[in-house]
Amino acid sequence: MAIKADPNLMKELEEFGLKDAKKCFHCGNCTAVCPLSTSDTPFPRKLVKYAQMGLKEKILSSPEPWLCYYCGDCSDRCPRGADPGETMMVMRRYLTSQYDWTGFAKRFYTSETFEIIAVAIVGILIGLALWLFHASNPDMEHAALNSVWPKEAIEIGDLIMAAILTFFLLTNTWRCVKFIMGDLLNKIPLEIYFSQAKELIIHFITQKRFGQCTDRMQWIVHLLIMTGYSTAFLLVAVFLAGGIKVIGLAWEPIAFQRDVIYPFFHPMRIFGYYATFAILYGATYALIGRIRKSKAPYKNSHGTDWMFLILLILTTLTGILIHFSRLLDLPMTTYVLYVIHLMFAIPMLVLEVPFSKWAHLAYRPVVYYLTKVKEKYYEQQRELG
Ligand code: SF4
Ligand code: SF4
Repeated sequence: MAIKADPNLMKELEEFGLKDAKKCFHCGNCTAVCPLSTSDTPFPRKLVKYAQMGLKEKILSSPEPWLCYYCGDCSDRCPRGADPGETMMVMRRYLTSQYDWTGFAKRFYTSETFEIIAVAIVGILIGLALWLFHASNPDMEHAALNSVWPKEAIEIGDLIMAAILTFFLLTNTWRCVKFIMGDLLNKIPLEIYFSQAKELIIHFITQKRFGQCTDRMQWIVHLLIMTGYSTAFLLVAVFLAGGIKVIGLAWEPIAFQRDVIYPFFHPMRIFGYYATFAILYGATYALIGRIRKSKAPYKNSHGTDWMFLILLILTTLTGILIHFSRLLDLPMTTYVLYVIHLMFAIPMLVLEVPFSKWAHLAYRPVVYYLTKVKEKYYEQQRELG
């Protein structure tokens, strides 16, 4: 099949932050030094070439952008200053926009104003909804969130938010799967998909390939942010209103950050403290790195990178303040902080997770898993002769 070249591709990629790829003269240094590049999936030079040649279809079906963890080794060793690590980052932004069928991701990545306005609108709507729909006689003697916003109402809102987020993330991930697998999607037997499922879980939880990079601090920071965020998300999504009732099982209705103050060593507090420490340390490290431009991965920050870190830090800081105002039993302070906290947290969850930088949490392990599925399939084909 003839491969079509898109003469406008470089221009389009520039809208996603591409700057220096034109300088590349294909010496291959970057691919040679990349600790994650393999003979089956060589990168980043290949992707730089696809960009220069306008090979959009090739980029869409490439797993390599998701196999790169942006350690920056290739950019540090590029003799032309073509910043191949940044090209891989731009590819991830571009692919995120291509997987997204709503068009939101593209708007987020190509217009900082659009992203800021969208986040602000959702935040303001959440603030208005909490202000309009609070109980008429809240407890003003003790900090009691359930007296202002009944846990059942919060639970319904929580489920609606989780459903919206999951719907968009899953439908976009399905498009990612189709792009990566192409015709192989239905050709590969199901047992191969099942046999490789552990790769998905292991790489989601440990991101152990990142540990192969020279700068292991980047891996630790990434792992802290991912595990902290996932822990916080589970605490909030599952335990926010304490309303979980596992079908057929008796389940103590414990609630995260609501009215009950648990003993210091209660799992709810220990997990909450871990999530808080992990996010705050990881996100502050990355934020300072971006401000100082201290390493190759932090040199070319895009608007979405800042938004991701700022919303994460503000959500965490307001969460910490709520925790202390609950401990000090300050009702009005707790209620106001709770509204502000959700005005940061909800836009981050419903907009940033499916349509922006957070989406890589799903795409990266899924694509790595699919490369393993393909490898297994080709191995079987070779054995069959
Ligand atoms: S990006 Fe730099 S290191 Fe990589 S092939 Fe091009 S010039 Fe060489
Ligand atoms: S940033 Fe690191 S992982 Fe990504 S292509 Fe460059 S060397 Fe490889």
